Amino acid sequence: ALKCGIVGLPNVGKSTLFNAISNNKAEAANFPFCTIEPNVGVITVPDERLRILEELVNPQRVIPTTMEFVDIAGLVKGASKGEGLGNQFLANIREVDAIAHVVRCFEDDNIVHVDGKVDPLADKEVIDAELQLKDLESVDKKILRVEKVAKSGDSKAKKDLEVLKKYKNHLESGQNARSLEMDAEDKKSVADLQLLTAKPVIYVANVEETALPNGNAHSNTLKEMAAGENAEVVVVSASIEAQIAELEDPDERALFLEEYGLTESGLNKLIKAAYSLLDLITYFTAGVQEVRAWTIKKGWKAPQAAGVIHTDFEKGFIKAEVIKLDSYQTYKTEVACKEAGKVAIEGKEYVVVDGDIMHFRFNV
Ligand code: GDP
Repeated sequence: ALKCGIVGLPNVGKSTLFNAISNNKAEAANFPFCTIEPNVGVITVPDERLRILEELVNPQRVIPTTMEFVDIAGLVKGASKGEGLGNQFLANIREVDAIAHVVRCFEDDNIVHVDGKVDPLADKEVIDAELQLKDLESVDKKILRVEKVAKSGDSKAKKDLEVLKKYKNHLESGQNARSLEMDAEDKKSVADLQLLTAKPVIYVANVEETALPNGNAHSNTLKEMAAGENAEVVVVSASIEAQIAELEDPDERALFLEEYGLTESGLNKLIKAAYSLLDLITYFTAGVQEVRAWTIKKGWKAPQAAGVIHTDFEKGFIKAEVIKLDSYQTYKTEVACKEAGKVAIEGKEYVVVDGDIMHFRFNV
């Protein structure tokens, strides 16, 4: 499943948000390091189209696609040198697909700020600097390895070394690996390092509930910064998210959101932002047994998309029958779609479109 790591300084609201995600009611205390164990929460990706298909098909079950959130604790100033819980978080963060960087934008004298005052940009830089130092370590290690081989005249090693040195300079100047412009071929020289600051990032501005829905001066400052990085900021109130997570009844939820001027929860916004950041799309399978959503990358062809269901589907791919959701809505059943000529037969080169309803034919 898709993994999103939650990072941020202590006391910015990570666990509150994480608990809202996993909806386990563990207490979030006013205490740096209260999220000691790295934790994983799974959330289903909300999708209105699933509900539409459910009504049309009336299946035995509906299975949404999911996203995992990993609460990555212990990132503090000095973490890269092993202070705090420094090294614990690394293994967790290496394997995430994207980073949700939570930044404290709420004022509350009762909640200790690790550096004494609310300053989103300074906070963000502390986290960036720690991650950059870790990346620098990885790059330096590889440089040592590659240098020897490069001296013996190996052309690939020479190329790697050249790229690595560019990353080294970039990181040493206090910048994140993701902002270094590199063509795809050159990036291969550092791909194995899984650089932390190369991972795509979304900023989550945690504001007080009275600042909903649009945020406050702190979150605006964060937005200005993020615009310069081409990154997105999602404004949430972690404590409101926690309350929303408690509400099961959709009508109650809607009413509650309305009270704060919201049309959807911050979590939904975060998930949507992660989808678009990672260029992800959803296709559906629909049968009487099961209506299900599947996540793939934009641009994937039919066999690769089928492979998400089962590797045999990819290996033995013959063709795909594709129905568009609006056709399904118009003609109501698969049979009626067929009669109306609305089932397209697509081959190996078909690029799957967001919202496609797919039926794969394959050899076993
Ligand atoms: P973490 O250390 O980043 O995981 O932060 P926590 O989620 O544990 O939050 C630290 C403290 O800040 C807790 O006492 C939370 O209740 C409180 N907190 C979190 N979000 C908000 C918020 O939006 N407003 C206010 N006033 N307090 C918050």
